[in-house]
Amino acid sequence: MSEGAAKKDERLKFQAVRGTRDLLPPETALWNRVEQAAHDVFGTFSFGEIRLPAIETLGLFARSLGTETDIVGKEMFLLAEREPSVVVHPGRFGPPPQSEQDRRDEAERVFSEPAMRESIEHQIEESVLVLRPEATASVCRAYIEHGMQQLPQPVKLYYMGPMFRRERPQKGRYRQFYQIGAEVLGGSDAPAIDAEVIEMVMMFFDRLELQGVQLDLNSIGCRECRPRYIELLRAELLKVKDKLGADSQRRIETNPLRVLDSKLESEQGIIAALPHIADHLCEECAAHYAAVKHQLEMRGVIYRENWRLVRGLDYYMRTTFEITAQGLGSQNAVCGGGRYDGLVELLGGPPTKGIGFAIGEDRLILSLQESGKAPAQQGRDVYIAWMGERAHATAIRAAKDLRKAGFSVELPPVEQKFGKALGQADKLGAKYALILGDNEVSEGLWTLKTLADGSQAKYTEPDLLEHLRKQKALSS
Ligand code: AMP
Repeated sequence: MSEGAAKKDERLKFQAVRGTRDLLPPETALWNRVEQAAHDVFGTFSFGEIRLPAIETLGLFARSLGTETDIVGKEMFLLAEREPSVVVHPGRFGPPPQSEQDRRDEAERVFSEPAMRESIEHQIEESVLVLRPEATASVCRAYIEHGMQQLPQPVKLYYMGPMFRRERPQKGRYRQFYQIGAEVLGGSDAPAIDAEVIEMVMMFFDRLELQGVQLDLNSIGCRECRPRYIELLRAELLKVKDKLGADSQRRIETNPLRVLDSKLESEQGIIAALPHIADHLCEECAAHYAAVKHQLEMRGVIYRENWRLVRGLDYYMRTTFEITAQGLGSQNAVCGGGRYDGLVELLGGPPTKGIGFAIGEDRLILSLQESGKAPAQQGRDVYIAWMGERAHATAIRAAKDLRKAGFSVELPPVEQKFGKALGQADKLGAKYALILGDNEVSEGLWTLKTLADGSQAKYTEPDLLEHLRKQKALSS
């Protein structure tokens, strides 16, 4: 190999892609515990698990989230085809490149014709595949695809798995992150459904002993009253435009509700004086909101009304909520949810009401770790120190029996001197070392060493299992 090639070879270093990460043991034990708690708690509310593909068509999200949203316009990971019939940039579509200049000219020509543009965009939406940025749209697609409106209503589903958004990575914000979510779909928008969904997620957090949980609640009205409120908000914002920052000035036109999200210190006084949506809800929405609050109180769920809580996505209506937890800094939202009546219909299904939430599992885990709720590293129960051929055979049998009885066992693959084996058992945090040598095998009495205090005793095989079982029961 030449010197240059060798140097290059040295530099060859594969790393997890920006914004993605490996989850390693023992942390994965916490992930499993969290997911098991979700299965358990959601199961007690009669939710069934749905497993969804990570790949969907671009059209599903373009239709549900809207092409103007950051998620669809900028953050979605589009899957490149091997021989692209179209070239897709985040938020921008065009024909395949010939030369760079040709490509630009062609794109300009095509996109200057609205009908052409619309037709191309439609084809692209149907044929281009993306990594899902969220799962509500997928659940709705599945509800329609499998004719779930024929099932007893409402249909209650939950999911967990990775989502993908090309966001700027930081603590608590990743490009591949994990969500645990649930959706209730059916004919009814009874306020008790909203309250029960919220009660369920709060019970889940309670089970995990998540600290500093704060539930914020709001209603953002419906297609009737929200546009009127938005116009009022826009008019009020225009009056104070000069005092707002550049982002908010822009949002007066594009999405005035987003101004309420602003964290800019200089804007807080101005925002506080803006009209509250709760005072501008139509009669039905106001009654629905009041009933949701009453239902939450009946369930003993503590909430804080937050009139500035608006969900960025168009399909949300009426009930919206967000849950924050401690130890997360600026990315402290662990769960967002709300009602989205009409989304199933928008995706080509029958008129259907819907409400759901998505929990950010990465942040949930971070918060549990910060507050010391993460379980300590699990050591092995038994390390088997064996020496000699006959002892090896006995060790293999002992390992099988102990594992069948539910103990975690480390069986070294090659012979080691007892001293070295005991040192290894210590390093791995084993509770016991089972010592098997010629004497033990011929006597049928096995030596068990308790590593914490160094005490040692001999047992027959059945007595040993019984002793370990008793000790385990005592410590759990
Ligand atoms: P959303 O789907 O945007 O309503 O988000 C629901 C929850 O998912 C948020 O409250 C976060 O906890 C979590 N989440 C959203 N985006 C990310 C991300 N890029 N990285 C980690 N968690 C996220």
